[in-house]
Amino acid sequence: RAKNDGRGTFRFFSPAMDRKLQVRQRLVQGLRTALARDEMILHYQPVIDAKSGAITGCEALLRWQHSERGMISPAEFIPVAEESGLIVPIGNWVIEHACHVATSWHKERRISVNVSPMQFSNGNLHGHINSVLKKTGLAPNRLEIEVTETVLVKDPHVALDTLRRIRALGVRVALDDFGTGYSSLSYLRLFPFDRIKIDRSFVQDLGQRQDSQVIVHAIVDIAAGLGMTITAEGIETTEQATYLRQIGCHEFQGFLFARPAPANQLVGVKEEALADNATDRRRLYRRS
Ligand code: C2E
Ligand code: MG
Ligand code: MG
Ligand code: MG
Repeated sequence: RAKNDGRGTFRFFSPAMDRKLQVRQRLVQGLRTALARDEMILHYQPVIDAKSGAITGCEALLRWQHSERGMISPAEFIPVAEESGLIVPIGNWVIEHACHVATSWHKERRISVNVSPMQFSNGNLHGHINSVLKKTGLAPNRLEIEVTETVLVKDPHVALDTLRRIRALGVRVALDDFGTGYSSLSYLRLFPFDRIKIDRSFVQDLGQRQDSQVIVHAIVDIAAGLGMTITAEGIETTEQATYLRQIGCHEFQGFLFARPAPANQLVGVKEEALADNATDRRRLYRRS
């Protein structure tokens, strides 16, 4: 409803909506210069083998170190970056930076990078990945991109074509946040994902809800039957880890083992988190 503010101009939004738009506009403006100002940084969260506790790779997680507001969470700025299209240059930077950092790691460790739907529809994702691999010299099978099923919702043909071309480079593809979408199971038939990541919301309910246990167990059986590797994310308790290991989940990620951290602060996984098994613990601390 248009409101007369008394000075002959009309306002189409309530003050609250106005404020929200302003905050958003300021975020977009900040995002536009964030890369040039060196405000984007990547944290890395280790992913571990469920049996041995060895680190198999790390997920790159974007952080925005804002000059005035301090650290802004991706949950707040990624949606804005997607809507404004700025996720394309920012996402390209993430891929290049993460691959570069991973070249200094143990050569068996993988680097996982989140990729947004907008990066599939705009820009040249396949071409960018290809040139980054060439430039950094990172072995393609050490890079994994993480997509959610929303990538396949808007324009499945374009997305599938891009995924196939990326896979043809030797890069792996993971389906992130599995179980939270609308028709998760049908997406498993659209593309032969290398990995699925069971969403944190299921993992966190494991102790409390019998139905979550049944659902997670079924997800693990289906994915394993399809030859996919299964990672559970958001593991915070040893009970969750024990159950997930028991039903055959392959890899673990969560605060129980390690929080996301800057590359130079990456250390081993917390010892007590794997206290289940003493020999596994030794393997964990064999520096690789
Ligand atoms: P995601 O890809 O599902 O990443 C996992 C999120 O779970 C991360 O949140 C991580 O910090 C958090 N997490 C891991 N273990 C635990 C745990 O034990 N407990 C709890 N409570 N949380 C845990 P973060 O870093 O805030 O990222 C949120 C989302 O933002 C990501 O979810 C991803 O969808 C998006 N994102 C982050 N970095 C990027 C990026 O570079 N590009 C794009 N397109 N999206 C990104
Ligand atoms: Mg992810
Ligand atoms: Mg996830
Ligand atoms: Mg997520």
